[in-house]
Amino acid sequence: MLKIVSLFLIFMAVLAMFGRLKWPRIGGRGGRPGGLPRPRLCPECGRYNLGGGPCRQCQDGQG
Ligand SMILES: [Zn+2]
Repeated sequence: MLKIVSLFLIFMAVLAMFGRLKWPRIGGRGGRPGGLPRPRLCPECGRYNLGGGPCRQCQDGQG
């Protein structure tokens, strides 16, 4: 009975490893996948402006 449980755990671990190994290959092949939006940088303060539009750091005057 314990063998079955251990085998099942090993099987799940192998599946998880394969899943982790396959994901970056699918997205990384062929240059840029273009799936995720590129984070924009504020030209004035150089911080990440994820929401787009006016920069919050520059608006608040903390940058
Ligand atoms: Zn800014």
